[in-house]
Amino acid sequence: MEIVKAFKYRLKTGHQDDIILSRFAGCSRFVWNHALSFQKDLLDNGNRCLSYESLTSQLPIWKKDFPFLKDVHSQTLQQRLKDLCRAIDAAFDPKDARKFPKFRKKHKSVASFRYPQGFRINGNCVYLPKIGWYRFHKSREIIGTPKNCTVSKRGKHWYISVQTEMSITNPIHPGVSFSGADMGVINTLALSDGMTYKPADSFKKASFKLAAMQRKLSRMVKRSNNWKKQKSKINRLHIRIKDMRQDHLHKISSEVSKNHAVLVLEDLNVKNMSASAKGTIANPGKNVKRKSALNRSILDQGWFELRRQFEYKMDWLGGTVVFVPPSGTSHTCSCCGHISPENRPSQALFYCVKCGHTESADVNAAKVILGAGQALLACGSNGASMPSEAGTIQKLR
Ligand SMILES: [Zn+2]
Repeated sequence: MEIVKAFKYRLKTGHQDDIILSRFAGCSRFVWNHALSFQKDLLDNGNRCLSYESLTSQLPIWKKDFPFLKDVHSQTLQQRLKDLCRAIDAAFDPKDARKFPKFRKKHKSVASFRYPQGFRINGNCVYLPKIGWYRFHKSREIIGTPKNCTVSKRGKHWYISVQTEMSITNPIHPGVSFSGADMGVINTLALSDGMTYKPADSFKKASFKLAAMQRKLSRMVKRSNNWKKQKSKINRLHIRIKDMRQDHLHKISSEVSKNHAVLVLEDLNVKNMSASAKGTIANPGKNVKRKSALNRSILDQGWFELRRQFEYKMDWLGGTVVFVPPSGTSHTCSCCGHISPENRPSQALFYCVKCGHTESADVNAAKVILGAGQALLACGSNGASMPSEAGTIQKLR
């Protein structure tokens, strides 16, 4: 089995390096925007977009018009054009159309560029063509054959991410257990064996601090030096919140995927579930405030990210993830199968009005999900690639 892994390290850079790396990233962004406006003009005039090959043949012409592009390694610019062509193709994909790519603003996009080849790694040093050698904080060994290297800025620091490929013998999962899992707001994850994982609520914890910092920012003179300092402080707090959330989710997904060979999850459509309830002026939505608070906590849990981690970690370990349709799992009794909204006297508690079964609502749901997964596997169809039906999935707890 071929697997792709990424290894990310922080570069040791000084002020001068920041200028050089920012210039590379800036040129890369400039090429993206320039090529995008070129493609958009073609589309607006009823023509087809240029292919990647034809687009790269424009690069020498652009280099004459914009000489600063000559200082940058040309493969990093070609990579950006490749990304753009891929994004445009994805926007016209009839099966799964993505959003059309946007222009990248300097302060609103991640400063980055990628080398498809030419970079070298020696111990804790990396050679970036046309820039030079950099030392990095080597927190772990790189495993596999390096395929490409992305340099990006996050907060104040620059990072390299080395993507490698390796082939491993088809793994066999050490465990034999079969578990259902329910993702919720009170518990980020509850398993059918009764194990629950509390949310880190990283955003909630930091939100007071964030609000105070934003209030302070609002009183400052826009674009003054103090304003810029405060803005970067806020930016760093956002990064910290994201890191805390990511760390928490990785701990959960690693532990669960090591302990269970088959995991049944609900095929939730997080995008639909967390859609704004605002509505339109003619048709305003109900309970907008309550729904927006719920949305915030749904997004704070990182359900989609957790699901993504389960999928690849189980794949690497030789386990399986099965998806079941989510309708009614929170109102179904795991003992007698009775379905009624009255079974939920509160968010946290499940009390079956028919048989009197009492349990934590999330664990009960996990048991129901496990049952649905077993039924699905017994029928002989693996739900792993089952499409989610938008509309039937909106489940408000
Ligand atoms: Zn019951």
